[in-house]
Amino acid sequence: MNSHLRKLCLELSFLYRDIRPVCAECKDHDCEGYVWLLKEEASSLYDLDVPIVEINDSTFFIHSFEEVDGSLLINKPKPPCKLRRDGLCSIYDSRPLVCRMYPVGLVTADEEVLLVLHKDCKFSRDINGETKAAFIAQAVEILKQTSPDLLNEVLTSYRDVDAISAFPEGPNTFEVITPLRSLINERR
Ligand code: SF4
Repeated sequence: MNSHLRKLCLELSFLYRDIRPVCAECKDHDCEGYVWLLKEEASSLYDLDVPIVEINDSTFFIHSFEEVDGSLLINKPKPPCKLRRDGLCSIYDSRPLVCRMYPVGLVTADEEVLLVLHKDCKFSRDINGETKAAFIAQAVEILKQTSPDLLNEVLTSYRDVDAISAFPEGPNTFEVITPLRSLINERR
């Protein structure tokens, strides 16, 4: 893992240092959806024998898709992640950025990639007022301090992922924080 990605992962771990008790009480579905990967993350997870779906050498997912007659049902929404076992992530220390960021995430709207706070998460539903404002400010600051090249790679990877992802029931509920591009531009 490159040093920028490692630093970002460490800072996200610190941001979410108090989340576990909330997760323990949560009754929402966990670990469903397109678990996409940066190319570097895919390469590290290959080394751990994690099954990966690779499309056009540019788009990578943890392989949790159903297969019928040898074909992947890539359009089936919200596949449960096969790496979740007995209620726990079996690759917790190596889990990808998309998992480390959640419930902060990315959504595309009007061709813009937006940084959002997903609301289908007990943690984000429970925080409000000053606590929520402080949490969002910290998340934004962490990303602002991240290498623009890494953020650009995240943005590009997410665009590719989103282009082939299916959301037939509509997008998840979320609250917009800011366009991801604005955080990249602030650092350039
Ligand atoms: S990699 Fe781990 S944390 Fe991420 S969706 Fe799969 S089980 Fe959950």
